[in-house]
Amino acid sequence: MSYYTFYAFQKDYPNDDACLNTIMQLRYGDKPVCEGCKRETKYHRISKRRAFACQFCGAHVYPCVDTPFEKSSTPLNKWFYAMYLFTATRHGVSAKELERQLGVTYKCAWRIGHQIRKLMADNDKGGLFGCVEVDETYVGGKRRGKRGRGAEGKTVVFGMKERGGEIKTRPVPNVKRKTLEPIVRETIRPGSLIHTDELRSYTTLGQRGYKHDSVQHGRGEYARNDCHVNSLEGHWSLFKRSVRGTHVHISAKHMSKYLSEFDFRHNLRKSPGNMFSRLMELLRETQPV
Ligand SMILES: [Zn+2]
Repeated sequence: MSYYTFYAFQKDYPNDDACLNTIMQLRYGDKPVCEGCKRETKYHRISKRRAFACQFCGAHVYPCVDTPFEKSSTPLNKWFYAMYLFTATRHGVSAKELERQLGVTYKCAWRIGHQIRKLMADNDKGGLFGCVEVDETYVGGKRRGKRGRGAEGKTVVFGMKERGGEIKTRPVPNVKRKTLEPIVRETIRPGSLIHTDELRSYTTLGQRGYKHDSVQHGRGEYARNDCHVNSLEGHWSLFKRSVRGTHVHISAKHMSKYLSEFDFRHNLRKSPGNMFSRLMELLRETQPV
């Protein structure tokens, strides 16, 4: 397993200029063509601004436009360091931690954290296929009842995980069939084998072009003929422990961003050394906000 060490990160991004040059390279490539004079050009850095000028006509380009950095006065190397921290942890990074590490205000740290989570959410791609676990859980609020069902203040979270592959999680308003089934059908390709627990909302999946198998958690059954939702349950417990340990509480409003952050790390778990570069690629693809 190869990791992107802090030592390597510091070498790659020793200062603001290194970060800006990377963003320029990501967004304009090796052979940029000037919008002004339509010639293949070299751009020169304009000092003290996050801008470059065409060597022929002097037209300016601003590579940070449409990225999370555009309206931020926080130095780029602090942003990059924050992104590094998000890829170097299993449990996530709290705003308080960012405030300490970056030496910025809490408000600024909070905003940076959420922008990075939004970027991570863009990593969501493609459908799931094969053997797919599907499960729901309740996050936050007070625990009531055996599985904490129906308790007030909890957010319902729904997840699908291809065995050995990617995970996709998101908050849902409830666990009714009419809520969950459309999500399954838009995410999991027909013909897949879906494993669930005994929740009634799943009982019609077998009539929707899927093979369906379930474990009876209520009867103390956790796996049958290789049918289980253990990988998702492992993910839920990591997520919940991290929320308690790192963030203490997450509001329903922001739940999807935190889920995306944990999906991102899970989906790149086999190549942790590529997490940071994947974030860089996502920057290149950022849409206007
Ligand atoms: Zn030009």
